[in-house]
Amino acid sequence: MLKDGCHSPMPSQQQMARMHRARSLPSARPFRIAVFFFSLFCLGLIGAATALVCVVIHPSQTAGLIMLCCMAFSTLAWLLAFVKRRNVFCPLCKGTPLMNSGARTHLRAWRIRPFSHGTSAMLSILATQKFRCMYCGSDYDLLKAPTRLLQGVENGS
Ligand SMILES: [Zn+2]
Repeated sequence: MLKDGCHSPMPSQQQMARMHRARSLPSARPFRIAVFFFSLFCLGLIGAATALVCVVIHPSQTAGLIMLCCMAFSTLAWLLAFVKRRNVFCPLCKGTPLMNSGARTHLRAWRIRPFSHGTSAMLSILATQKFRCMYCGSDYDLLKAPTRLLQGVENGS
């Protein structure tokens, strides 16, 4: 006779969630700055795309000028975001979680399909203030207050 309520040796979803609870960061500021410039880049792109549609539908010098300005703005924002993303490190593995370095990613790493792991992490921070390091698979929460042990670790930087 088969029993329905037999216990499985696999951990339940609740236990798994507890095992991979989001950690806090010693300092969330570098992450916020990188994501801020990335969001400026996105805004510039949206502006340029809108101006491009205007140029196609109703060609005018003003629309063309706005498109060029938006493109220049998003290029500048992308450059600043690039520098900032390279200077952000995971507290555990010292990898760059906001930028793919070409190193092999962790089994738990995820991405939103057309985008890279780094871009997905930034979109995740923009939407939920959380991200997963693609190299060590740890979850981080930018809103979580740093623990007493982490305080003073990165005060100098
Ligand atoms: Zn990591």
